[in-house]
Amino acid sequence: MFLPVTCPVCGSLADAPCEQCIASLRSAGHLPPMPQLDRCAALYAYEGGAAALVTALKYRNARRIVPWLARELASLVGDVDIVTWAPTTPRRRRERGFDQARLLAAAVGRRRHLPVRTLLRRLDTHPQTGRNRRERLDGPRFSARPVDGWKILLVDDVITTGVTISTAAAALRAVGAARVDGLAVAYTAHDGCRTSAPGSATHRGHEPVGG
Ligand SMILES: [Zn+2]
Repeated sequence: MFLPVTCPVCGSLADAPCEQCIASLRSAGHLPPMPQLDRCAALYAYEGGAAALVTALKYRNARRIVPWLARELASLVGDVDIVTWAPTTPRRRRERGFDQARLLAAAVGRRRHLPVRTLLRRLDTHPQTGRNRRERLDGPRFSARPVDGWKILLVDDVITTGVTISTAAAALRAVGAARVDGLAVAYTAHDGCRTSAPGSATHRGHEPVGG
């Protein structure tokens, strides 16, 4: 069966995404310092076309746009030994059938010839979105495998308040990471880019809305 290739942003017939949509994507610029991260970078401001890209990544077309995104993301990778990702909750992964951050991490690792490893486990069971306020205030929680002295690239799809990625980075530092760089497809200074500093002893974050 012939399936037409369409742009995941606008739906026009094109290689994904189309040139017009690529041109509409606005750079995320320099991100503010994030607790627990030595460096943090994102490709696009989370708006319009970039928001559509992230939605496509989560719900449709993920495998088709990941290689394209990985090529762009690879240009932002610094001096690291290994690539990992901030896992989504087990429930969300079951609902979608995959973890988009894992797909991105694997593709970036391939692109940069870096090993990709499962280093983090998500301990909170419910997604941040759709939780009540009290549950959300508990924040994401992670445990990490020992990573003595490694320089780690930590990949996620979107950074909003930065709490998820900072909490994941805190867990990696607590088990011996020498360096943790954050990398995401999109960044939004949601809620005035508030970032609370997660304590390295608990690896428990506080994030109002999501990633
Ligand atoms: Zn398009």
